[in-house]
Amino acid sequence: MIKRTFQCTVCGTEFPATKTKGMTHIGHVKHMYCFKCKTTQPCVQTDVEGTGAKLGVTKWKRKSSQ
Ligand SMILES: [Zn+2]
Repeated sequence: MIKRTFQCTVCGTEFPATKTKGMTHIGHVKHMYCFKCKTTQPCVQTDVEGTGAKLGVTKWKRKSSQ
């Protein structure tokens, strides 16, 4: 099972996602239920188990605002 971490782009909460429907990459945006916002929000994937890579949501925001 591949563990992935998603971060809510609205409140910044990070939570793990263990669903394995296809491979996704860092920076992948998925609409997921945020337990803090209590609604579905666009969430950005910040890491993939095995790669050790991390991408801050700040970088993603900066890229999308250009
Ligand atoms: Zn949220």
